[in-house]
Amino acid sequence: MKRILISGGAGFIGSHLCERLLAEGNDIICLDNYFTGHKSNIRHLLPHPNFEVIRHDIIYPYMAEVEEIYNLACPASPIYYQHDPIKTTQTSVIGAINMLGMAKYNRAKILQASTSEVYGDPLIHPQREDYWGHVNPLGIRSCYDEGKRCAESLFMSYYREHGIPVKIIRIFNTYGPKMDINDGRVVSNFIVQALRGDNITIYGDGGQTRSFQYIDDMVEGMMRMMNNTPDNFTGPVNIGNPNEFTIAELAREVISLTGTRSKIVHLPLPADDPQQRQPDISLARNMLDGWEPKIQLRDGLRKTIAYFEEVLSRGGIRR
Ligand code: NAD
Ligand code: UDP
Repeated sequence: MKRILISGGAGFIGSHLCERLLAEGNDIICLDNYFTGHKSNIRHLLPHPNFEVIRHDIIYPYMAEVEEIYNLACPASPIYYQHDPIKTTQTSVIGAINMLGMAKYNRAKILQASTSEVYGDPLIHPQREDYWGHVNPLGIRSCYDEGKRCAESLFMSYYREHGIPVKIIRIFNTYGPKMDINDGRVVSNFIVQALRGDNITIYGDGGQTRSFQYIDDMVEGMMRMMNNTPDNFTGPVNIGNPNEFTIAELAREVISLTGTRSKIVHLPLPADDPQQRQPDISLARNMLDGWEPKIQLRDGLRKTIAYFEEVLSRGGIRR
């Protein structure tokens, strides 16, 4: 049994990770300020004797005796990370320093949930980890992109200066049950719109691409990075599904799977919206014992649609 701290543990990815790590017999501390996370995501875990939740904002220091830290705390959806961009940067940068400080105190292993957004609107396709990216440092997405880039830099500095075993993963668009109904990201938006019979809102012409990864594949990759790689392997490693789709294709898939009568409408494309995104996962395959995504888009969408159907049947209220 290891004592493991997960910042952002009440969020979409964090709550799945809490479940997996508890099921494997670990002792879990979940830190969250509930900005975009929900108690309902982890309520079922509260009776577990090895599960503890602490309301805490990681821009303030926190200390506990732990062996591993997963640093996931940060709003991930553009509408939320752009809501208070200064706070987003504080969470990424000061939050990273606080989590790294705790790792240093404990000599603990620490994993950073970085993002494909560090590649910005990429000029190289697909994106490999050695691509330095194409980020607008002044744009509306920069609070998130540059915050995450600075966090990667801090992780490498703590590794070089203090010898802390750090692990950086760059997560590509991930979806699945427990996404917030109002999250604003494309998969949840399209499914909820389809199930309600509302218009499906494609931003721009829908020709921009993303590569969508199902949550279970993501959590498996993240845990292998923490557990199955040598201490001197820092990454970064891309964790994503290389199957790439246009946003228009995603809309058609959701319409076909839900059988909705919703109509597609086109809204303006937000500023700096990346045109294409696809991970090169060769490094993950090599370093993470042959890891690769197993759940393809149609199957993952079916599971996610079933989740949102259940939430909507309760009037949008989470259990
Ligand atoms: P999410 O918004 O569901 O979860 C983030 C969690 O962090 C929430 O529970 C939120 O309340 C908490 N949080 C935010 N700011 C905090 C703060 N200052 N202090 C304490 N808690 C705070 O998002 P998610 O999709 O689960 O993303 C988790 C992590 O993975 C994020 O760091 C995100 O950047 C990264 N990521 C996610 C994706 C994706 O597609 N889901 C892609 C790339 C990277
Ligand atoms: N998008 C869209 N309709 C929506 C929400 C998003 O067309 O209702 C587009 C968005 O402009 C982007 C893509 O879908 O091109 C993915 O957006 P999301 O916010 O899910 O993730 P990110 O842009 O951070 O990859």
